[in-house]
Amino acid sequence: MSFSRRSSKWANSALVVTVSSKDFESLNFHGALAGVDFQRELEQRAAVMGGGNFVVPVQTVTDFLEERTSGMCLPQSSYRLGVKASNLHELFPAHITKALQDSILMFEKELPGFISKEALLHGVETRTSSPVQIPRNSTTFESTDLKGLYPVGEGAGFAGGIVSAAVDGLYAGFAAAKNLGLITADIESLLGKAQNSGIAKY
Ligand SMILES: Cc1cc2nc3c(=O)[nH]c(=O)nc-3n(C[C@H](O)[C@H](O)[C@H](O)COP(=O)(O)OP(=O)(O)OC[C@H]3O[C@@H](n4cnc5c(N)ncnc54)[C@H](O)[C@@H]3O)c2cc1C
Repeated sequence: MSFSRRSSKWANSALVVTVSSKDFESLNFHGALAGVDFQRELEQRAAVMGGGNFVVPVQTVTDFLEERTSGMCLPQSSYRLGVKASNLHELFPAHITKALQDSILMFEKELPGFISKEALLHGVETRTSSPVQIPRNSTTFESTDLKGLYPVGEGAGFAGGIVSAAVDGLYAGFAAAKNLGLITADIESLLGKAQNSGIAKY
């Protein structure tokens, strides 16, 4: 967590695994909002593991790799509402745990020191990108179903972070201004070509 002065000793980072409708179906979640149900399920499991009151389940990286519970003597955490030693390797479906473990082992090869009993994993990060997307026209940015509606940014399923949300908003703003006749210039002549404008696939 860098805070405004970017001088904190903590890293602001999450390990992310791509999930798909197959993962949702494996937990018996179906339909347009199956991804939201999947998010909710993992968040509920984490809340139960933490024991309530926003206490977060944690496990050292070394214990996560060896699939054993961390002892009571945990390394320091930046999370302020409390942490509880838990079996995070049991929180996720087995193949997600395996993907995380494999990635950590790979990171260690690239960045020796990544695997350490001082490194504490906190569960669970479920909000990297929206599990739903509102369809829109890739040129006008207008909703394909509702005239005058501009689905933009993370919630609409077109961004997965601060910068991508800001850039998407910039393009959508120009597109809306053009559609309303407020500007005549081509958006790309002003901003250059957006790499992922239009329907983004995650
Ligand atoms: C805890 C956390 C940590 C994160 N850390 C990072 C990070 O380190 N790096 C990174 O790149 N991204 C991070 N993100 C993601 C990033 O914050 C979002 O992707 C980004 O802010 C999305 O921007 P947005 O404009 O699409 O949506 P938002 O920032 O959510 O803006 C939506 C706005 O719409 C308003 N709103 C909602 N409903 C209505 C309504 N009915 N009427 C009027 N207004 C309404 C809301 O109040 C809000 O102001 C993090 C997110 C969270 C939650």
